[in-house]
Amino acid sequence: MNKKKIVVLGAGESGVGAAILARQKGYDVFVSDAGSIQPKYKELLDRHHIAWEEGTHTMHRLLDADECVKSPGIPETAPAPAALAAHGIPLIGELEFAARYLKGQTICITGSNGKTTTTSLVHYMLKQAGYSVGLGGNIGKSLALQVAEGEEHDWTVLEVSSFQLDTMYDFRADISVLLNITPDHLDRYGFEMQRYVDSKMRIIQNQRQQDCFIFWAGDAYAPSELARRHAEGNAVTPLPFADFPEAGCFSADYEGTLRIDIPSGVTPRLEDGASLAIPVSELSIPGRHNVRNCQAAALAALAAGVEAETVKACLRSFPGVEHRLERAGEADGVTYVNDSKATNVDACFVALEAQTSPVVLIVGGTDKGNDYTTLFDLIARKCRAIVFLGADNAKLHQAFDAFAAEHGIAIADTHNMPDCVRAATSLARRGDTVLLSPCCASFDLFNNMAHRGRLFKEEVKNLLKD
Ligand code: ADP
Repeated sequence: MNKKKIVVLGAGESGVGAAILARQKGYDVFVSDAGSIQPKYKELLDRHHIAWEEGTHTMHRLLDADECVKSPGIPETAPAPAALAAHGIPLIGELEFAARYLKGQTICITGSNGKTTTTSLVHYMLKQAGYSVGLGGNIGKSLALQVAEGEEHDWTVLEVSSFQLDTMYDFRADISVLLNITPDHLDRYGFEMQRYVDSKMRIIQNQRQQDCFIFWAGDAYAPSELARRHAEGNAVTPLPFADFPEAGCFSADYEGTLRIDIPSGVTPRLEDGASLAIPVSELSIPGRHNVRNCQAAALAALAAGVEAETVKACLRSFPGVEHRLERAGEADGVTYVNDSKATNVDACFVALEAQTSPVVLIVGGTDKGNDYTTLFDLIARKCRAIVFLGADNAKLHQAFDAFAAEHGIAIADTHNMPDCVRAATSLARRGDTVLLSPCCASFDLFNNMAHRGRLFKEEVKNLLKD
């Protein structure tokens, strides 16, 4: 009998992982990447005797496949996947493929914002509770590669993007989490918001009554979309959380305290009467948005059987995630915060909201048509100064100069990280916070947002030496 043929489109972390797993499972595997493949991935493929090509797609080889694993970065409408689909070849993603061989239960987390933070927090909670737990999806090492390497856990926590959800069909999460849905990546969804919403809601596909769906009740879409899917036969048990006490919600944050109260009989997964309360000021990650991430993570951990006391301790001790409101250090009474991950205006908004002392705000980079006026009210209330950091700051001057002059907010113009931190430091006073929350991508001056964040932290370290 001929071996089943799998073609892998895109040789990045997920594609190479899927190729190695497929090869291990006895498939005939061919990897094709229209761009160039990183040397470390070529070596891995060679080591596993997997055929690959780069810079082109040999269509007759692709069309000979029984199934295709497509990288999430490649749109379905690109020529190669479109041709495969037209030939009736199923296109799936790495998570769908890896899940066929995955043992144990899964907690899957999606949302427009907060995925990495919440995924890391849930993983931390299960680890602290002494569980056998893995981590994967849109974060860290490819899940397929982990499966191929024989990693087995009772639980796997997965960060799942909408592009990954688009190529998941039979996959079922035991516990799913939807943090929020706000417009994002609409270019991949024909600029139709409903298509993006439908993609996010795939997180509950195939879920049964014994499974749980944790979501933010304040979201503009999730509650009505869930109701529709319930009417259509999905039986998942909902576990909504809210900002204020609300009927049917299992967690709320009010009077400065995050509370979780589980009545009896919700689901066998949750201990009847489980409850915890923790002052918001004691949560290790700051800001309104992080209260929601903490609520979601806490409910997920409780549903996985973690004790309420452990959950509470973890909410206090979680070290946070690099480049997301990360404390970079303190020098001369000024606190430096690295929020390099804030590559859009919404992210900067929540970062500013979280600040309790006067702010020197660093913004700039490559913007995607930003409307900065949504920040004006917060900046007027919270900022002492704004430092521009970009190759070309003309747009920032246009956006901010008149507004800043009107409100007595100082402005500095810089084009590299050392100058930027120097300028911010000279504008800050004791007790202030210097906040790098740039609203923009980093590619004008840096390799990526992590590079920008690391250079910021290095400059802050240098200040500490001075
Ligand atoms: P993602 O993995 O979805 O990009 P992250 O956890 O990396 O999310 O957070 C990215 C940025 O999104 C944060 O710096 C913060 O500005 C914003 N953010 C995080 N959580 C939320 C939330 N629950 N609601 C709104 N914005 C959030």
